[in-house]
Amino acid sequence: MVKKIRFDIAGRLPLGGGAPIVVQTMCNTSTDDIEASVAQCRAMHLAGADMIRLTTQGLKQVDSLGIIKKRLHAEGIMTPLVADIHFLADAAIAAAEVADKVRINPGNFARDHEVAKDKFDRLLDVCRRCGTSVRIGLNHGSLGERITTRYGNTPLAMKEAVMEWLRMCREKNFQNVAVSLKASNTLVMVEAYRLLYKAMSDEFGMIFPLHLGVTEAGNGDQGRIKSAVGIGSLLAEGIGDTIRVSLTENPVNEIPAGRAIVRAIADGYKRGGTRQRVEAQSWNDFIIKASCLWGPSLLDKTIDDFPLEGSTIAGKPVGTADGERFRDMLLQACRRRFTAPEYIACPGCGRTLYDLEATFEEVKRRTARFAGVKIAVMGCVVNGPGEMADADFGYVGEGRGHVTLYKGRTPVERYIPQEEAIDRLVSLIESSLS
Ligand code: SF4
Repeated sequence: MVKKIRFDIAGRLPLGGGAPIVVQTMCNTSTDDIEASVAQCRAMHLAGADMIRLTTQGLKQVDSLGIIKKRLHAEGIMTPLVADIHFLADAAIAAAEVADKVRINPGNFARDHEVAKDKFDRLLDVCRRCGTSVRIGLNHGSLGERITTRYGNTPLAMKEAVMEWLRMCREKNFQNVAVSLKASNTLVMVEAYRLLYKAMSDEFGMIFPLHLGVTEAGNGDQGRIKSAVGIGSLLAEGIGDTIRVSLTENPVNEIPAGRAIVRAIADGYKRGGTRQRVEAQSWNDFIIKASCLWGPSLLDKTIDDFPLEGSTIAGKPVGTADGERFRDMLLQACRRRFTAPEYIACPGCGRTLYDLEATFEEVKRRTARFAGVKIAVMGCVVNGPGEMADADFGYVGEGRGHVTLYKGRTPVERYIPQEEAIDRLVSLIESSLS
């Protein structure tokens, strides 16, 4: 009998082992901007966030996180806070004294694997002493070279990378750990989680809580549909304990989108569920229910298309034009037919130094004709180039007012003024495709 591990984050939020699905989000404010971060956490709390993550680049941001936590507690907002760490293992160790949970990325925790093991060992000691939980948060785009040379850039590599870290947790008998294996490609994401679930079951006889998400999903309908396909496919199989819908929008919007996916699955909008057609209250309700219902079978290629007849929004049949627009978006999210560019856009966080949301909208408007081309818009140069995975072209923020354009993995126009960057991106795509 496989045991599903359950623990309480901050002693009050149960995670895993059949507990209700935890819906979380992440601030896109600078963590050093205490007022803005407290205000955003407050709005997230009011929207129903179960857990909130904040960018924690270094020791200064660990201090800021501590102040934000105190301010929220003083207002009676006890929502657990997660420190998001990349590149600086010592910041993770310090954050473990302050945050309720620490997210680390195995792909960039430390350059040297032996150093990483030693620092992770110390991190787990501090977490045990302080009652802090951990997330091993691996992303498809940031797999380390040590792993990719052995397994390629594949779901198998993602699974293998995470299993190494889980073995370290087991050696230390540390169980308050959740895991994520995010990708912007829904096929890769779903396959990676399935492989990991089976590996944990076969090797450990236990399942650590899984945090689900489609990373860099974009915004609007596309971001919601992609997320519902990836997250919904797995939740329907009983895989997943906490979710984040990553949107390049106000992060408060991620909460209703996440709740809608959880509700859709509970209401039988899933493969093998009780529903054959969608009865929705609104357009957003429709796209999420319909993506949960038909997405898994499209993704696994057990169907090639799906019926829209009989589905309703607010009691009225889904209009033909809206239905066809949705069909195009769902088939693309399931990687079955590409009728528009494939956008990869990060949700932004405390590292973003430009108006990501408005820029992404403008990039979409100016590049809509490049069907099938993968175009990334990323908030920062620290993680952006790694995280944009297999994009054909990338627009990456380089600090205030400057951008670097990528062709594949290669930076081709460095540190150009932001005002010129979209024009030059469009020219780059045009000249590359001609
Ligand atoms: S790529 Fe985007 S979400 Fe990731 S760290 Fe950079 S700004 Fe934040």
